[in-house]
Amino acid sequence: MAEELVISCMDRRLNRMLEEEYGDAIVIRNAGANVAPLMQMIKQIVIDNNIKRITLITHDDCGAMKKTFAAIKEGIHASEDLEDILIKQFREINFSDRQQLEEKNTEMQLAGLKREFTNIDVHAKPAKMSEIKVPPDDKEHKLLVLSPGEPGYGRIFEGLGLDPFQCYIVQASISNAMPDIELAAKDLHAKEIYFVTLNQDNPREVKRDADTAALRLSAIGAEVKRQDMRTMRAKGKNLM
Ligand SMILES: [Zn+2]
Repeated sequence: MAEELVISCMDRRLNRMLEEEYGDAIVIRNAGANVAPLMQMIKQIVIDNNIKRITLITHDDCGAMKKTFAAIKEGIHASEDLEDILIKQFREINFSDRQQLEEKNTEMQLAGLKREFTNIDVHAKPAKMSEIKVPPDDKEHKLLVLSPGEPGYGRIFEGLGLDPFQCYIVQASISNAMPDIELAAKDLHAKEIYFVTLNQDNPREVKRDADTAALRLSAIGAEVKRQDMRTMRAKGKNLM
């Protein structure tokens, strides 16, 4: 059973590193590794899995922090939901550039986790994009929405015929990550959004969430699709 919980940004450039370095951990991801909206889910996962260690993975050149910086320092419009869930917490904080904002974000999310989990090893491991090898950004961006779990992304990319680095990945639920999904569709140009059903999921819930998202996202011109990985796995087994 997994003993480590990773809370990471949804950035596509982190996919391979998460899969390689945290393959046995349970992973939760949203825009900016923003802890507050996920807290109920995090608490439940910590209890259910007897989590011993929480690792927070933020990163530089973060799209969520770009959006936050633009909203606060340049007055660029952001949706009310994104303001509530992400941007608001930085309005009373001092920072002058994006790098400082990213550092504050790491500090604040880490502090939020430490306040909540006093008996668990909680630490941050900010990723540096200069240290991650990423192929040229020449493919259309997509978004995968998955439930929290081990980052077995390879099988999903293969099933969908997608490149690991073209997909942003939200691992949360509609109830706590809809503004993040909208951010990916609008600002990060992920015009195809896949709701993926994994073994641990209730397929009816995934369908319901996909339908909810489709209603919200049609106005932005994003298309919601569903992929059932349970049937894909069954097919693979039959072949062997
Ligand atoms: Zn990010």
